[in-house]
Amino acid sequence: MSYSAPKFKEKYGNFINGKFQDPIDGQYFENHSPVDNKLLAKYPRSNEKDVNSAIEAANKAKHEWGNTSAAERAGILHKIADVIQENLETFAQMETADNGKSIRETMNADVPLAVDHFRYFASAIRAEEGSATELNENTLSLIINEPLGVVAQIIPWNFPLLMLAWKVAPALASGNCVVLKPAEQTPASATFLAEKIADLLPPGVFNVIHGFGPEAGKPLASSPNVDKVAFTGETTTGQLIMQYASKNLHPVTMELGGKSPNVFFNSIMDHDDAFLDKCIEGAVLFAFNQGEVCTAPSRILIQEDIYDEFIKRVIERTKAIKMGNPFEESTMMGAQASSDQHQKILEYIKIGKDEGAEVLAGGDAAKLDGDLANGFYIQPTILKGHNKMRVFQEEIFGPVVAVCTFKDEAEAIEIANDTMYGLGAGVWTRDAHQLYQIPRAIKAGRVWVNCYHDYPAHAPFGGYKKSGFGRENHLMMLNHYRQSKNMLISYDKNKL
Ligand code: NAD
Repeated sequence: MSYSAPKFKEKYGNFINGKFQDPIDGQYFENHSPVDNKLLAKYPRSNEKDVNSAIEAANKAKHEWGNTSAAERAGILHKIADVIQENLETFAQMETADNGKSIRETMNADVPLAVDHFRYFASAIRAEEGSATELNENTLSLIINEPLGVVAQIIPWNFPLLMLAWKVAPALASGNCVVLKPAEQTPASATFLAEKIADLLPPGVFNVIHGFGPEAGKPLASSPNVDKVAFTGETTTGQLIMQYASKNLHPVTMELGGKSPNVFFNSIMDHDDAFLDKCIEGAVLFAFNQGEVCTAPSRILIQEDIYDEFIKRVIERTKAIKMGNPFEESTMMGAQASSDQHQKILEYIKIGKDEGAEVLAGGDAAKLDGDLANGFYIQPTILKGHNKMRVFQEEIFGPVVAVCTFKDEAEAIEIANDTMYGLGAGVWTRDAHQLYQIPRAIKAGRVWVNCYHDYPAHAPFGGYKKSGFGRENHLMMLNHYRQSKNMLISYDKNKL
């Protein structure tokens, strides 16, 4: 079955105080689809004035919203989930048009996971119990959670709706108002969501500001009138955002880049069975959607005594990947998200070749026919080399996997940890000891064991090292969006 880009209006506004508003200085930017480089729509090129107007609206709304009951907020979050579910196909087509990823992925992962995220946090706040302790016979200690107030949220282009859900659902659930800046490459789904939920939330509770990082993101992250900054994006941008927020001593959470190792031990080849097939899929499928995933398993580590046989099967499977029109349901790999990203990935492939990496598959742009010839496609690429090469150390954020071998467990752990990042990792083995010990030794916030790329709302996700700090998903997330107030109550009438 084939889908298509939904119909877009010529231009959209910022969503401030419950209404779409033109940018104050009247500037817009064009958003093109990476599928075929056609113009989709224009969005506000916002500046500090627009940002401040959204922050002001959020501050006006925060008292009332922060005092709503958990039951009321949960009801609204469920309704937001319903709206996304009812418009699943439109959201999926919009994400595919905007980001270039396959409809197979947006229909089955991005949008359903966003629905589930709103449902999860709606339920989590209903299930919470307070905490009270009697410190002595006359003193009670109460811990009360209070919302922070107004939260600035800045998100990337690789999962536009899902990254929105990861940030917005827990922030609203905890009683905060939000000013969200989507990435300039993918402004569509946040806009469509705002349009669809405008009547569900009081004005000012959820605001969307479009524009570029230095023009709209910087004033948002620097504002003294927000109470927290939550960021997902590149590590270098995260460093800037921390500087901006530090002037106000505002708390930040950072979800940053990755260079995740995917480690295959020799026991996987003990039998030629369904588990071995799963391991091959685990090496290939999760790297070669478009590879624009922060936890993309971009380094494959294979135990040396199974290397020849295993890599042969990995290459065969890679060559069978169907790449092409992302709107066709059978397509596994669509377009890269932008011309800039396409260029960056090709430069990295060249860097790898210049460093002496052996090209085992792909290694170039993919040329498609018709309108798609103007889109941004890259062949799934496997480079063999060693972990000191730049293509093993730097985040490429594309369908490029760097492969190396290791001798034993100690060397596998050493290579896996030889990176400035620590976001995700995969471990594949039939050995019961390895499947506990190796993940414990890898310094990453999420280690998948005999699986990969599963993102349930109730499992915490986040980085070690330069992949960031703070967590997303899981109810522990609620505490990133609120303060705990301690009340110490004496009920002794006489003694101090
Ligand atoms: P990016 O850092 O370029 O941009 C992210 C957002 O920050 C965008 O909205 C952008 O407009 C804004 N921005 C850019 N410069 C800014 C500035 N000076 N001040 C304020 N805002 C600014 O990242 P990207 O290219 O959009 O996304 C890809 C990156 O995101 C990758 O590194 C990827 O690993 C990371 N990522 C991490 C996670 C995670 O959960 N750890 C999830 C998804 C993506």
